[in-house]
Amino acid sequence: MLKKGPQGDLSAAYVRKAIDERWTGDRKCACGEDRPKALIRKSDPAECHKCRRKRKGKTVFDNHHPAGDANNPTTTPIPVNDHRAVLNVAQYDWPQQTLENPDSSPLLARAACIRGYLDTNEYLMDKLLREDLEFLEKLNEFLNSKLGPKWWVGTPLERFAPKQQGQLPDNPNPTNNLPSEDAKSDNDVSVRNSDEKLAA
Ligand SMILES: [Zn+2]
Repeated sequence: MLKKGPQGDLSAAYVRKAIDERWTGDRKCACGEDRPKALIRKSDPAECHKCRRKRKGKTVFDNHHPAGDANNPTTTPIPVNDHRAVLNVAQYDWPQQTLENPDSSPLLARAACIRGYLDTNEYLMDKLLREDLEFLEKLNEFLNSKLGPKWWVGTPLERFAPKQQGQLPDNPNPTNNLPSEDAKSDNDVSVRNSDEKLAA
């Protein structure tokens, strides 16, 4: 989430990180949260914003402005720790003019909406999809060890297996099993190319 935008300021990011680390060191909340921006400065023992809110009976969600308050009133609820440690941090890397838009430029407002959408989309990809990658790979490893390296053969999952290069797609209906016009012309091209190579 901390990728720099086209005008991201690396030195500013470095300074922020150094300040965070000076304040938080290697501290960790009892819940396991250890991202500096999610921890309350000077809390002792270390406590995160989510745990403090819970302890005080308050909501653990913030209303995040994806495009920044100055650019668009749309908000979306985000868990407070992620709001502080991920989405707010992403906005620090925007050009300040775009985030604050002091003259209410309609162009900057639109740029902010795009930046906000991209940041939020990346956050959701991390939250909803990233873990699935490891899950799928580990499950494949587990099934390999239990059932062998072609565990899907002869199961309803077989049709999802990627086709080997050059293999025609499975087709239960033989009348539709002719190569498409595109495929035929591709083949013609490859035959022609190899003929040209032979001639040369
Ligand atoms: Zn906590």
